[in-house]
Amino acid sequence: MAITDKIYVKNHRQLASQLETSFPKSAFAGATLDLLFTGDSLANLDSTTQDRVLDFAEDFLDCDCKSHPYCGCAERKFIQYLLELRAQGFGPDAIVDVMGDDYMLYAYSGDILSFLDQSVRTLEAAEALAEIEASRDRRDELHDAKHELTNG
Ligand SMILES: [Zn+2]
Repeated sequence: MAITDKIYVKNHRQLASQLETSFPKSAFAGATLDLLFTGDSLANLDSTTQDRVLDFAEDFLDCDCKSHPYCGCAERKFIQYLLELRAQGFGPDAIVDVMGDDYMLYAYSGDILSFLDQSVRTLEAAEALAEIEASRDRRDELHDAKHELTNG
């Protein structure tokens, strides 16, 4: 399962009651994206929640793909967001706090931790491959990226 399958809408029950409908708890589930970001339902939310939802839409759902919001851009951008937070020195718990403040989302810090571990391993594998076949520049680049993630 991708990390984006483990990102949840905070205050899910409260939101569902404001919207007078039910939707999946998972933030990146198709039905959630449809309901929260493409419907007229936003008007029913309190203003704080509206702001967070609009921020999320602006930051992650702003592509022009035909299959939007199912094109995968939102998931890719969110993963980028997580890695940037890590590179800024945030640990798993702090990352969960930040996504709550920014977008009213939450995740289990254990899931964030394994995602970060996995990302470092992926980079290590890419680094090893680059060592064999690609240019030294690319290898150095991956090496630096890994350092950003591990030395935060
Ligand atoms: Zn897209």
